[in-house]
Amino acid sequence: MRLQDKVILITGSGSGIGKSTAQLFAREGAQVIVNDLDAAKGNETVSEITAAGGSAHFIQADVTQPESVKQMVDEIIQLHGRIDVLFNNAGISGVGALHEVEPDVWDRIMSINIKGVYLPSKYVVHHMMDRKSGSIINMSSCVAEIGLARRASYAATKGAVLALTKAMQVDYASYGIRVNALVPGTIMTPFVENYLRTSYDDPEAAIASLKTRQLSNELGRPEDVAYAALFLASDESKFMMGSPFYIDGGATFG
Ligand code: NAD
Repeated sequence: MRLQDKVILITGSGSGIGKSTAQLFAREGAQVIVNDLDAAKGNETVSEITAAGGSAHFIQADVTQPESVKQMVDEIIQLHGRIDVLFNNAGISGVGALHEVEPDVWDRIMSINIKGVYLPSKYVVHHMMDRKSGSIINMSSCVAEIGLARRASYAATKGAVLALTKAMQVDYASYGIRVNALVPGTIMTPFVENYLRTSYDDPEAAIASLKTRQLSNELGRPEDVAYAALFLASDESKFMMGSPFYIDGGATFG
């Protein structure tokens, strides 16, 4: 198994990409800590993993709140003694050109998508520094690199995640810690379904239009991203440092 006995924290793993990744990591032998703000969804992920014979437990925490994140990390260290992999996956979508975004909505997306990477990393990384080992995976998006209409706040957060990934890699490389980013294109999850439902009168036409922005005829599935995360979490990717990893059906190609 590719992740045998690794202790792995995945934020926002009650749904979508995080959930699919938690399930795959558990099948590969990891001890998965499922985090989410939503306890019902997080517990459901854990029940499904344990029913399939995997190892997982749920910790409810809000990735935007320092005390909440610190308590979660302390609890994991008490229970397992270490965290081998941190996957900063939790995130929300944001719609609108800059002038359409209200300040409180702007603050909320910045908080979840950027501070929500900073805080778990801050409290986990010094345990990794002590052990001189660890892999941190940050969730970006191809929207950071291609100009998509009415995604100003979201694009800003995901661009910041790419910059933060490089800055973190430089600071922690000498401690044996790798920091890489996932850069997905359109992946059909509740997050995207909700975005399509609330932003377009005709979601089917919107899906067809999204397909024209990539080379593949299919939109992505959560498992497509989970397999890339598996590589970054495993020791197989030990020579990958500070890199963006594209899983986008060719959306950023050319
Ligand atoms: P999703 O909505 O299905 O799952 C996100 C999870 O994060 C939810 O369970 C939610 O409860 C949780 N969450 C939200 N705020 C939280 C908080 N403050 N603390 C803890 N948990 C919180 O979304 P998804 O599509 O699986 O997206 C996961 C990540 O992938 C996001 O960062 C998103 O930006 C990124 N992404 C998604 C796509 C896509 O097409 N789906 C593309 C590129 C990047």
